[in-house]
Amino acid sequence: MTSQLLTYSALLRQSGLERSDALALFAHASGKNHAWLIAHDRDEADPQLAAAFSELAARRHAGEPVAYLTGRREFFGRDFRVSPAVLIPRPETELLVELALARAPRQAQVLDLGCGSGCIPVTLKLERPDLALTAVDISAEALAVATDNARQLGAEVRFVESDWLAALAGEMFDLIVSNPPYIEQHDPHLQQGDLRFEPRGALTDHCDGLSHLRTIVAGARAHLISGGWLLFEHGWDQGAASRELLQAAGYQDVQSWRDLAGHERISGGVR
Ligand code: GLN
Repeated sequence: MTSQLLTYSALLRQSGLERSDALALFAHASGKNHAWLIAHDRDEADPQLAAAFSELAARRHAGEPVAYLTGRREFFGRDFRVSPAVLIPRPETELLVELALARAPRQAQVLDLGCGSGCIPVTLKLERPDLALTAVDISAEALAVATDNARQLGAEVRFVESDWLAALAGEMFDLIVSNPPYIEQHDPHLQQGDLRFEPRGALTDHCDGLSHLRTIVAGARAHLISGGWLLFEHGWDQGAASRELLQAAGYQDVQSWRDLAGHERISGGVR
């Protein structure tokens, strides 16, 4: 009887996964980085490691997002912990961070509405230690992940469990940011890919996609100092509707910014 020698190279190839997914899952299963794999490509795969990797590969084939399988996702060059309790950080949201960094006055009080993993407030604090960050989420489970990320990455952020601004009566901010759930309830994307595994309440408003944007645009005004910016992320086709909401609520200097794919992705205005 001959047993086929399974090399690491063959293990990854036979998984049938996209190369980048296979590499991420192998690194997670083995604790070895890509450089190690290149050096050991032709070695016979450790059977236990091969089994652990194959189990992750099977879950990936069943649709589970790589970020939930590894429990990590990079955002703005830093490694964040994620779990199925939080939205997986997206590259588009880095644009929101950049716009906020460019507009936050020195030592500004900054608020993030619906912080999820905490990727926005933690990044803002680490990029600009002079800022004072408050971040709210309605989900205690999400806040536990966000608090953990802030501690792991060494960012001082005040986290508050709140339904948008409900728990912040009387508090004023120089800048308010948000990446709220904005997907329309019947959008077929909710039934596809990674989104099937993400918290529904972080993706959709279970309505027309704009209901949380309306709440935030209307509510933020009373918590912004005069001259303070509100900046929020929205769907690729919600730029015009977002600007209308901002204008109707009396914000000045209303505008939208495009993501790398060329879609209007962030809108904002000044109180
Ligand atoms: N940008 C995400 C998506 O379209 C949605 C995130 C959100 O609703 N804030 O997949």
